[in-house]
Amino acid sequence: MSLSRTGRVAGIVPAAGAGVRLGGGVPKAWRLLGGRPMVSYAVDLLSAACDLVVVAAPPGFDAPDVGATVVPGGATRSASVRLALALLDDDVEYVLVHDAARPFAPPSVVARVLDALRAGEQAVIPVLPVTDTLKRVVGTEVLATVDRSDLVAAQTPQAFRAAVLRQAHREGADATDDAALLESMGATVRTVPGDPRNLKLTVPHDLVLAEILVGP
Ligand code: C5P
Repeated sequence: MSLSRTGRVAGIVPAAGAGVRLGGGVPKAWRLLGGRPMVSYAVDLLSAACDLVVVAAPPGFDAPDVGATVVPGGATRSASVRLALALLDDDVEYVLVHDAARPFAPPSVVARVLDALRAGEQAVIPVLPVTDTLKRVVGTEVLATVDRSDLVAAQTPQAFRAAVLRQAHREGADATDDAALLESMGATVRTVPGDPRNLKLTVPHDLVLAEILVGP
């Protein structure tokens, strides 16, 4: 974690979720995957591109060393990101936020979001086209089929100019990703291609699949 290269790119890994949908006694991001905590994959990915990586862990959880600075997270994902953001020095110019629940993001995705940011964008997110047919449903009844032609699924890492991300978090609002906070203040968020390998591990079956992907 040298600060000598630029001193201005920081990584944040929200990893403070309880992981209720995944089951098991240990918080989701800290479950072992391929013999090491899931969150360590996100830390390694960001460490290659960042001068400093901060991980938000569940408050009160005795987190093992994953090679990053650890802060207690908050009650929501946004609160966890905010608490990590508060730790960054003012000279940080760019911030990458990457969910611990996405251990398979390839370095090419990091390069794409960071390149776009360095080319002058203020917020860049990786996305994939939606492939399922989408229905609007109430109870068990289908109300409509949603036109998916301009819909995408948002991934992380999401990359931001630090000042804009700080501003977006100033109100203390909650959203399922950071880009949504920028959107609601009218900031332009650009997309770059995501990667199908960049799966989000959410339900128990995802962990089974992840163990196969990690290999023996
Ligand atoms: O719950 P979900 O899977 O959407 O969480 C996305 C990411 O946000 C996970 O890496 C999770 O650990 C993190 N998170 C957090 N603090 C919370 C809730 C979720 O850091 N309070």
